[in-house]
Amino acid sequence: MQKKTNNDIPFLVFNNLSQHPGLFHAITTRAGGISPAPFDSLNLGLNTEDTPENILRNHQMVSGALAFNLQSLVSTKQVHGSRCLNVTGSPSPADPGSVTYTHEGYDALITDRPGIVLTIRVADCVPILLYDPEAKVVAVVHAGWKGTLVGIAGIAVGQMCRAFGAQEARIRAGIGPSIGPCCFEVGSEVAELFHQAFTGSTNYMTRRAGSTYLDLKQANHAQLVGSGLVPQHIETGDFCTACRSDVFFSHRREQGKTGRFALFAGLGS
Ligand SMILES: [Zn+2]
Repeated sequence: MQKKTNNDIPFLVFNNLSQHPGLFHAITTRAGGISPAPFDSLNLGLNTEDTPENILRNHQMVSGALAFNLQSLVSTKQVHGSRCLNVTGSPSPADPGSVTYTHEGYDALITDRPGIVLTIRVADCVPILLYDPEAKVVAVVHAGWKGTLVGIAGIAVGQMCRAFGAQEARIRAGIGPSIGPCCFEVGSEVAELFHQAFTGSTNYMTRRAGSTYLDLKQANHAQLVGSGLVPQHIETGDFCTACRSDVFFSHRREQGKTGRFALFAGLGS
């Protein structure tokens, strides 16, 4: 990944996906916004205890820096599930004085419509970007441990192919900043679920000092390869959000009292 700065707001972009002029994408950090601690400062989380005014202003600053219209933003109230939404219509005009979810109950959004901007909001969960430059279809995915367990990334790949004519071998992927295996300690119940779902040495867990740690990014990388993506087409960000809670919001590190950063993606119009 590489860092860019627009209007004094820093963003991260994937190197592999930056090479495609038909795709726009960016991942925010916690820098550049107006929210006070513990949401300092670019909090984009709608279901946080930050004020609606701050959250709206932060969205306005991001849309200004990334040069998209906030009215074209499509988002979902994420539920750690397996449902992917095909976004085929324009978002219904929202009140310009507020920012709200356009959908609820989905953890991945897919579109082939230029001008629509998809977003996923996270603080430790894995944000994933998928793009087929020939079919011109883009998807954003939210994969926490529950979403990883149900295979949301692979489900999104399948839906891109079935509903939009994408082909697995053409899809480029970016796996964004999330909590790493250095910090993501899981309890025995979660460990057991991953043991059952991913057998043997590929259960993405390591044991250290009597504790079990899960590697969500590696698990999602493996799911994408298992879904037919070419490993060379997948870029994995090396940040751990908990190690780098100075840069990113981390739900685990900050014990739930934090904001959300976001992945934005859309097709050029
Ligand atoms: Zn870490």
